[in-house]
Amino acid sequence: MIDQQEKSRAGGKFETEILHIDNLLDKEKLDFPPTEFMRETISSNAKLLKAIQIGDDKNLVAVILDKTPFYIESGGQISDIGRLKTDSVVFNVRNLHAYKEMIVHECIVEKGNISQLQSNSEITAEIDVDRRMAIQRNHTVTHLTQAALRKVLGPHIKQSGSYVGPDRMRFDFSHHKPMTDAEIQEVEEIVNEEILKSNSVETVTMNLEQAKASGAMALFGEKYDSDVRVVSIGEFSKELCGGTHVENSSQIGPFFITLETGIASGVRRIEAITGKEALNYMLEAKSFRKQVASIVNRPEADSLGGVEHLKEQNSLLQKELKKVKAEMFSGGGNSVGNDKVINDITFSTHYFDETDRDIMTAWIDSKKEMASPVFAVALGLVGGKMTYIAAASSQAVDKNIHIGKITKELLPQFGGRGGGKPNFAQGSVANDTEPSKLFDTAQSLMTEG
Ligand SMILES: [Zn+2]
Repeated sequence: MIDQQEKSRAGGKFETEILHIDNLLDKEKLDFPPTEFMRETISSNAKLLKAIQIGDDKNLVAVILDKTPFYIESGGQISDIGRLKTDSVVFNVRNLHAYKEMIVHECIVEKGNISQLQSNSEITAEIDVDRRMAIQRNHTVTHLTQAALRKVLGPHIKQSGSYVGPDRMRFDFSHHKPMTDAEIQEVEEIVNEEILKSNSVETVTMNLEQAKASGAMALFGEKYDSDVRVVSIGEFSKELCGGTHVENSSQIGPFFITLETGIASGVRRIEAITGKEALNYMLEAKSFRKQVASIVNRPEADSLGGVEHLKEQNSLLQKELKKVKAEMFSGGGNSVGNDKVINDITFSTHYFDETDRDIMTAWIDSKKEMASPVFAVALGLVGGKMTYIAAASSQAVDKNIHIGKITKELLPQFGGRGGGKPNFAQGSVANDTEPSKLFDTAQSLMTEG
């Protein structure tokens, strides 16, 4: 299921072309012998059996050779890409496709055209070596990872799917709970130790019964031929496998697990990187560590302590700031805002810009503490929303001020709504509200009322 999804994602846009190729080859009634896979080589001369245009695009061709060094996707390891060349023609192989027992090279024409090729002419097939090498690192490390997981988590660990590409490897396995950080690190340590042992990777072909008797790991439910390839890495790992591998474990380079997650009940997934990807990861981590140390102004080894210190300081400052803001308007802070005396009531207004409700409420409370009757209106941007809070002191309520009623009439005129009690109301208005206009309107409503 997972492999299927991966395949269709990888194939994605080529799918219609693949259908095309199938139809095309059906029509041609092609019946060549199985394409021979040149496992031990990265470049070989081959005999051209068929080159055919795919669809209407003359730059898109399907090529069948008698033999090929291109590995076709199988057992999680993705297909090779590369080139097919003659003196006059260069084709970029971007994908491979199985047709009967033939390997079809899907190519984009880089130079020349198919009419320059004749059946049975010689063509050089060469794979993208750097990419294949990266794929092989990730394949061999998949075997090491499986053995390490069995060691750390137990012998119940069985592979239930894998992806082996040049960028990373993915390994799905049966396990009933998430791996702990310590378990992940232990697997990383074991695998890296096995890499450093510089064990050669040995492949032996034997019959299936012999292979199973030798203790080689096999995939449950997988159909195997009577003769199978058994891949061993030192004493540590022995698996049935048809893929391609590095010659020596040391070629894998550093290994890191970058993801551990659940994908279904009882199935975990890990992703890991090796080789150049892992080197880049280390270099990035190194630079990150250096930057953090410079920001917190501490030695690299102590930079985490610096971050923790900053965090503690920040939460202390937040608390202090809240306290100071609340105190700012009580007692001595009465000068904040505009005060007017209308019909013996002090009408106070203030626009806060970016603020929080605590500050607006603290200001309102400080106004209510004034000896005279007070009607106070605060406007401010709270979390990006124009917020309105208003209150009246009890003396103002005694003078028939009803803030709730005023608010209910006031806010819709500014694209908002709200309401409340005689002595307290709140709501919000449109963000482009002009504070002075709202305060003037509030004043008119107050004098009318
Ligand atoms: Zn394998």
